[in-house]
Amino acid sequence: STSTEPKEDEYHSIIKDTEEPAGQATKHEFQADTKMLLNIVAKSLYSDKEVFVRELISNASDALEKFRYMLLADGEAIQKLKDSGRKLEIHISTNKQARTLTIQDTGIGMTKDELITNLGVIAKSGSKAFIQQLKDKRDQSDNGNIIGQFGVGFYSAFMVAEKVEVYSKAGTEEQRYRWSSDGTGSYEIQPAEGVQYGTKIVVHLKVDCREFADGDTIKEIIQKYSNFVGSPIYLNGTRA
Ligand code: ADP
Ligand code: MG
Repeated sequence: STSTEPKEDEYHSIIKDTEEPAGQATKHEFQADTKMLLNIVAKSLYSDKEVFVRELISNASDALEKFRYMLLADGEAIQKLKDSGRKLEIHISTNKQARTLTIQDTGIGMTKDELITNLGVIAKSGSKAFIQQLKDKRDQSDNGNIIGQFGVGFYSAFMVAEKVEVYSKAGTEEQRYRWSSDGTGSYEIQPAEGVQYGTKIVVHLKVDCREFADGDTIKEIIQKYSNFVGSPIYLNGTRA
């Protein structure tokens, strides 16, 4: 059997906002190109900031597709999934008081190494092309517009966030990890409590981006961009 099958009782509480980090944090520097990209993204005056919601939902959707694909190879795992009640879903919650937007999926998750590689190093062709164009141009006055053109994926969260936390657990790992960054030079990784598989991203919004902690605003954005998503999306507990 594979190690992807969830143990019982792991999915009963999908959104756990009380989840705390546990254990020692280690500090890591972003790769130079990532630093450059994050710096530009954070300072961008790009008007369609809401695209970060689309980017995070599309990553959640990709993670669920990858998990489904992995299951296809293993009929026993499919049965165990059914038995366990693990639902393949995306859960989004807003919290005005805390000024947060949380996006959680029950997909493939990331190991500690994957958190470091996937979120700290630019591999994505869109982001690479973006950086190349910046280097070629050396005129960085119009960066806002090209962010939208290239689509910078996960990093787009830093247009609206003062801090981003990523909690994740892959089926191959016993431990869940927390990645967090304010989008400047470095990020931290530490073990986290909780046993859920998949990924939870908590976007701590900048004061002037607090509108994204409003459920109605997020509902409109979901309706606008996320019709293509193959997994059910719940917003504050209701099917969106
Ligand atoms: P892209 O989606 O085009 O690969 P992103 O910048 O959006 O680029 O994401 C970078 C990588 O981070 C993804 O390729 C994936 O490996 C990882 N990732 C991001 N979000 C998630 C998630 N919710 N679950 C699992 N992996 C994720
Ligand atoms: Mg993406």
